[in-house]
Amino acid sequence: MKYVIKGETLFDGNNILNANSVLIEDGIIKEVGNNIKSDDVREYKGAFIMPGMIDSHIHLTGAKSGNLIMESLIEDPNIKLLATIPWLNKILKAGFTTVRDCGGTNAIYLRNAIKNGYLTGPDIIAAGKPLSQTFGHGEFSHTIPIKWNEDRGMSEICDGTEGCIKGARTVLRQGADFIKIFSTGGVLSQSDRPDQEQFTVEEIRAIVNEARKSGTYVAAHAHGDQGVKNAVISGVKSIEHATMASDETLKLMAEKNVSLTPTLSIQELLFKYGREIGVNSWGLEKITNVIDGIKQVLPKAKNLGINILCGTDLGFETGKDIDIGKNWNELILMTKYGNMNAIEALRSATGNVNNIGIHRGRLSIGYKADVLIINGEPSENISDIAKIDHVYLGGNEVF
Ligand SMILES: [Zn+2]
Repeated sequence: MKYVIKGETLFDGNNILNANSVLIEDGIIKEVGNNIKSDDVREYKGAFIMPGMIDSHIHLTGAKSGNLIMESLIEDPNIKLLATIPWLNKILKAGFTTVRDCGGTNAIYLRNAIKNGYLTGPDIIAAGKPLSQTFGHGEFSHTIPIKWNEDRGMSEICDGTEGCIKGARTVLRQGADFIKIFSTGGVLSQSDRPDQEQFTVEEIRAIVNEARKSGTYVAAHAHGDQGVKNAVISGVKSIEHATMASDETLKLMAEKNVSLTPTLSIQELLFKYGREIGVNSWGLEKITNVIDGIKQVLPKAKNLGINILCGTDLGFETGKDIDIGKNWNELILMTKYGNMNAIEALRSATGNVNNIGIHRGRLSIGYKADVLIINGEPSENISDIAKIDHVYLGGNEVF
């Protein structure tokens, strides 16, 4: 199948080009230019053409509330896996044609089902079970038996360099595309604090080395400065959250080309609607400690030239304005809180993913034909990113 998509303005994942059309053949972009000729020209008058977006931090949990511990213990994991299937459509419809799932086993099953053609959905890059230390962020509750966290929670719990090597090999064996770790405490875990370091530099280095041997990398959840620093000096490729990163640590991130996913959506959601959606009291208390941090960090990170990724960290349906299927809100929040302009926000959801080895997010020759047709000008007014008219996934029109 060979055809041309023609619009008015074309954003290639990096810049607005002096071009209005892309030639697609067998699901791959073959040419980008002006008024490309073809027997099949699909013209969208006045439209903004851009690459399908990437949510670089999501959790396909199938959860219906913010009370993760109750859901994980009481709901049948098989039903929760099935509950994620409608999410796939919602995410595609929101213009996200690739997601990087930063923790949970569902993503591995969904990824494989999509690859085998059993389901239609975005491309999924899956971490599988994240690695957590004992008394770590990977345990939702620190008062229930640890076995329950291991059996029904989302993490692989490991300690010491030997244990971490085993943990890394275990999740790679289970099909992880990359490894996710927690190098500080977090908001939705019971008794640890976001500023607390988790894992030692030696443990993180051991995990990074196992990832490297398998040709992949490590992404680290980290709020507190020391935990961010430990992860960066150990060789991780992306820092998730970084809400308390110091200027010195941010400089180190820039030097070592470590990407930052600020995850504004989850923080805004927990802060605004946490109580309503069932978040435990500890989460409500801790979110107030991190919510302002990222608003200080993000503009500095941008000025240092750190590669910024769009990641919502959404992991449950909320029925609110911040929800699965409204993932583009992250871009709006970036312009609101991060001193980023509309083009910079668009890049975070498209071309910037190349920095973590994802070959997506560009309208360039050789890239997969994930293309959005937008009835607006998101490069000038970022809220137009919600006006998605058509979504092409690998050259097939899915919406
Ligand atoms: Zn997350």
